[in-house]
Amino acid sequence: MSIDFEIHPNPQPVSDIERAALLTDPGFGRVFTDHMVTVRYAEGKGWYDARVEARGPIAIDPASAVLHYAQEIFEGLKAYHAADGSITMFRPDANAARFRRSAERMAMAQLPEELFLGSLDALVRLDRQWIPTDEGGSLYLRPFMYASEVFLGVKPSSEYLYVVIASPVGAYFKGGVKPVALWVSQEYTRAAPGGTGAAKCGGNYAASLSAQAEASEHGCDQVVFLDGVERRYVDELGGMNVFFVYDDGTLVTPALTGTILPGITRDSVITLARDQGLTVVERPYSFDEWKADAASGRLREAFACGTAAVITPIGRVAWPDGEFTMTGGEVTERLRGELVDIQRGRVADRHGWVHRVS
Ligand SMILES: *Cc1c(COP(=O)(O)O)cnc(C)c1O
Repeated sequence: MSIDFEIHPNPQPVSDIERAALLTDPGFGRVFTDHMVTVRYAEGKGWYDARVEARGPIAIDPASAVLHYAQEIFEGLKAYHAADGSITMFRPDANAARFRRSAERMAMAQLPEELFLGSLDALVRLDRQWIPTDEGGSLYLRPFMYASEVFLGVKPSSEYLYVVIASPVGAYFKGGVKPVALWVSQEYTRAAPGGTGAAKCGGNYAASLSAQAEASEHGCDQVVFLDGVERRYVDELGGMNVFFVYDDGTLVTPALTGTILPGITRDSVITLARDQGLTVVERPYSFDEWKADAASGRLREAFACGTAAVITPIGRVAWPDGEFTMTGGEVTERLRGELVDIQRGRVADRHGWVHRVS
């Protein structure tokens, strides 16, 4: 499907001086570029009115379906300045495919993958000056789509708005990688069999915020969610997948059983670990097993992974009845180093993961 994007450059872009100031310490998700992409969909008409224009507020009717029934999905990926001077994105085709799967689960129109990829290229090309050049910096891209039909009935919307915004972000860990402290929630779960755990939808995040608040109250950075049936097996964090590294070089990660978001970082880590000769096992992994193997020393390292922080070692693990502390290690560091080197174009892209924009 080929749709051309109408380009309407922002008549009042941020000045070079102001942009340079914003890029010195952008943090995460606070600074935005000059442009955004919008594409509309209507049943019977298909995708239309694809444009890149000045970023700004979107008028929304108070009866728009998304405001009432949360039919909304999103993606997250990054654009980089590669070592050879080109601009690249990491596995955007995988995000395009996942966006379609999320749409399918939420009974939304499925954006053609070509249109998804074309929208990212168009935005990144126009806002290329916003890509941080410092080590660790990148342009975070946030494609999302919501039900825009003006109707209060409960049914799949017949109209959607697809949008992409972009946000320059700094290195996730300033001054080196720092282990995350995790709170193992006993009260809250994030996904149930048959639910929306494998879809990247805003609703999953809304449901995770109370648990996240509980984690913060206990001095932890992130929540570990256990399975929604027995509350025994580790699913994932609010927005990151988890891996466990054993003393014999085996990696264990919870299997994708429908309640876990299939992370693209997770998938990349599995591939890179196997390339390095490590064994990766995808299976149910209980919290009891985690505690016992951390205590015995068989479990050497654990890490969380996702686009924003890439790979983060897990440090303290706490729950209402206790806590233990893990330390990062070589395997985590080697995987992180290799993944970042591929993303930044410093080593050969042997899996064809790097997409060149320019
Ligand atoms: C996005 C997300 C991840 C990580 O996925 P990546 O593709 O690696 O960024 C993990 N868990 C949840 C719940 C997510 O929404």
